[in-house]
Amino acid sequence: MSKVYDARLKLRGELEAPPALRRFGSGWLSGVLGLVLGLAGLSLVLALRFPGVFATPEMSGLYGNPWFRVGLHFVLLAAFGLSAISLALRPGKILGTCGVAVTLLAAMLGGSSATTAVADKTPLYIGLDFFVLRVLFTGLLFIPLERIFAQRSEQHVFREEWREDLFYYLVSSLLVQVLTILTFLPAKSILDIVPMTELRAWVVTLPFAVQFIAIMFLTDFVQYWVHRAFHRIPWLWQFHAVHHSARSMDWMAGARMHFLEILALRSMTVIPMFVLGFSLTAVNTYIFVVYLYSTFVHANLSWRFPVIEQFLVTPRFHHWHHGIEKEAIDVNFSIHFPLFDRLFGTYFLKLEQSSPVASPCYSSATCCLSSWE
Ligand SMILES: [Zn+2]
Ligand SMILES: [Zn+2]
Repeated sequence: MSKVYDARLKLRGELEAPPALRRFGSGWLSGVLGLVLGLAGLSLVLALRFPGVFATPEMSGLYGNPWFRVGLHFVLLAAFGLSAISLALRPGKILGTCGVAVTLLAAMLGGSSATTAVADKTPLYIGLDFFVLRVLFTGLLFIPLERIFAQRSEQHVFREEWREDLFYYLVSSLLVQVLTILTFLPAKSILDIVPMTELRAWVVTLPFAVQFIAIMFLTDFVQYWVHRAFHRIPWLWQFHAVHHSARSMDWMAGARMHFLEILALRSMTVIPMFVLGFSLTAVNTYIFVVYLYSTFVHANLSWRFPVIEQFLVTPRFHHWHHGIEKEAIDVNFSIHFPLFDRLFGTYFLKLEQSSPVASPCYSSATCCLSSWE
C-alpha cells in the first residue's frame, strides 16, 4: 500500500514540477498530455463497456456517430505515443509509465472497438463520460487562453489546490442525473399547482433572441438574491464559504461549490425558465452559455473590457467578488448584469486586481468583515 502512496506522491510531484523541470523538451508536456488523454480514453472505453453505469443517456447520439470511434482510437494512439516520448525524454518515469499503463488498460477493455459487457439493469447512472468531455472541452478552451493572456502569469495549470477543484468538477459531473432530477422538482411542483397555460403558450412563440435575453435577466435577478442570501445569512454562508475558499482564480475555480448550494442555486434559477415556458432551444442554449460564462468570469485572464464591463459581468468584476480586501466583502453578486448590483447598492469595481485568497473566517460573511475592523 505504501508503494501506491509513494507512486501517488511522485506523480503529484511531477505534475506540480517547478518551471525549470517543465520546459519544452523535458518530457513533462508529453507526459502530462499522454496521461490526461490516456485517462480520458480509459473513461470513454468504460462508458462504452458499461453504458448503464458510466454513460450519460443524453450523449447516446455521440456514441452512435462512427467518427466517435475514430476519435477515440486517435486519442488512445496519441496517449500511448506521447507517454512513450515522455519515457524517452524524462529522467523520472512515473508520468510516462502511468500514461502507458492506463492506455494499455483501455486497449485490454476493447479500446475504440469496445462493446457493451453488461446489460443496463437500472435507470441510475453516474456521468463519467460527462466529466471527461466537460473537463477536456473546458480545459482545451481555457488553458491556452490562460497561458497567453494570464492575469497572474506565475500561476501554473497544476497550481495550489488544483486537485480539490478537480474533485468538485468530478462530483458535480458524476452526480449529473441526481442534480438534474432534484433541480427541476420545485419548478415542476409550481407548474402542477399553477399551470399558466396561456402565458406559456405566448412565451414559447417569442423570437429566440428575446427568450434568451429574458432568461438571462430573470435568472440573474433570482441568482443575485440567492447569492446575496448565501452571503448574508450565517447558516447559508457556511455552504457558500466553500466557493470563497478558492485561493487561485482560474477555469477550475468556479467548480468549487458545495453540493447543496449547487442544488439551491440551480433549482431557484430553473423556476423562471421552466415555469414561464421558454422553448427547449432557448433553455438549452442558456444552460450552455451560462456554463461557459461562469467559467470565464473565474478564469485567470487579464482581458480588460472598459465599455462592456459597464453592462456585462467580466472576470475582473467577479474576481473582486472573491477578493479579501475590505471593500470586496459582500459586493458584486450578479453573474451576468452588474445592473443588479448597481440597483441594490452592492456594486464595486477597481482598476487593480483583487487578491482572491481564502476568507479568514468561515462562519459568516459578517464575521469576515468584522475581522477586518
Ligand atoms: Zn459569493
Ligand atoms: Zn465565484
